[in-house]
Amino acid sequence: MAQAHAGKDTLPAPPFSTILTTMLQGWDPTWKVRRIDARAAIDGRGCAADHASGVSAVIERAPTGTLTLAALGPTDEVASSSRWAGVASTDRRQSLLLPGLVNAHTHLDLTHIGPRPHDPAAGFAAWIGMILRARLSDEPSIAAAVGRGVGLSLAGGTVLIGDISGAVGGLPSPFAGRALAGDGRVNGVAYLEFFAQGAKADKNTVSAAWNAKALAGEFDAMTACGRVVSGIQPHAIYSVGVMHFLQVLASVPDDMPTCSHIAESLAEKRFVAEAAGPFVDMLRTLNLWDDSDPPPGLGESPIDVLMGHGAADHRIAAVHVNDVDDDDLHNLAAAQWPVVYCPRSSSYFGAHSDFGPHRYRDMLAAGITVALGTDSIVNLDTPDRISVWDEMRLLHQRDGTDPLTLLKLASINGAAALRRETAPFTLTPLGSLAGLVAIQVPNANPNANSSELLTQALGPGATGGRTSAADGPELLAIGRV
Ligand SMILES: [Zn+2]
Repeated sequence: MAQAHAGKDTLPAPPFSTILTTMLQGWDPTWKVRRIDARAAIDGRGCAADHASGVSAVIERAPTGTLTLAALGPTDEVASSSRWAGVASTDRRQSLLLPGLVNAHTHLDLTHIGPRPHDPAAGFAAWIGMILRARLSDEPSIAAAVGRGVGLSLAGGTVLIGDISGAVGGLPSPFAGRALAGDGRVNGVAYLEFFAQGAKADKNTVSAAWNAKALAGEFDAMTACGRVVSGIQPHAIYSVGVMHFLQVLASVPDDMPTCSHIAESLAEKRFVAEAAGPFVDMLRTLNLWDDSDPPPGLGESPIDVLMGHGAADHRIAAVHVNDVDDDDLHNLAAAQWPVVYCPRSSSYFGAHSDFGPHRYRDMLAAGITVALGTDSIVNLDTPDRISVWDEMRLLHQRDGTDPLTLLKLASINGAAALRRETAPFTLTPLGSLAGLVAIQVPNANPNANSSELLTQALGPGATGGRTSAADGPELLAIGRV
């Protein structure tokens, strides 16, 4: 199906940033210790390094690829320390240092499609039809799309990715996950996506559980570059029957990262509440709808239905969650489900017109771990990078959200949503480090501290055009976590 329509739905490749290859090649692959001189540094806890003479970070790299933040302090102290004498240094004195960023939800196997316009009036189901037609189906092409997506992610300062290994021909496929692990440049969770509606549901359910476990075993065996672990993604409640949804979760290891698209669209709301609407029509077209077997939970919300069937026993990262009422918020908090908010995706699909502003701040106030995702390149306005930095900028400029909160969402909370240790996503001297990012703040007030520099960097026009590869996060180092 995808092959027949690929020519029609695939745009020419987006311009590829050369800065990334320059940047990564600029690092001697054998380096063991580096010093970086910067203006200041700050992490998502608000722990900051500020000094009139600037600050320096020293990073040590072990043969296994793990990084340690060996020092972080005033440049005049670190640079004069006999301990670091002779260490190669990098000048980023016009930049603010941040921990590496976490993109908790994306689809790198769609990178070949590139940014595409969307008319919300045409509906979500129509968009999904376009994606289904443009999807690749052979492993080498999928690997190329994922590799390109990893490149664009690194160009955006990303060190950990929650990536969806998309189904191929309707069946769960390890191709994209294997490509992410084999690429080896970035840490990640490869969520095996599956669908289970209609006649093939049982087969898909068994196949999803089997493939998820097989992928986990395959990744475990890749000791040399084992930066990627396996996860599972029942696609959504309208594409996976609720019993199949839970059957798979019960059959994979408890600690396997799990996510699903939840409460995303009006079409989904109608599907669940009324067993009607465009998704029912789509399933009918695909011969996957059985009128005699409507989905359970009529009149309820997607979160009600899942919780009512025992999903609260599993820790599912709920992706999007554009539509929640107070009960849903309470249930999400009680079940300790993280929420992955993809601001540009929600905006692209016009979710605010259907449901009002996204309630991420209410979620945070309710104690829910909110992380940020980009969704795929298709809904992004940045052809040169795939980065939650641009989600932070959107939320700061649109909602006035506090920059430090946003940094926490894009680092610590992202790691938590992907079930990783969070410490490497902070700047803790002598602690392990997932990565280090520099953000240019060339014309900042000389007295501005790190928090004010972060605010400036997220502000409108502070760092130039939004799609320039030079204006965003520069990845200085990435470690295995
Ligand atoms: Zn998605």
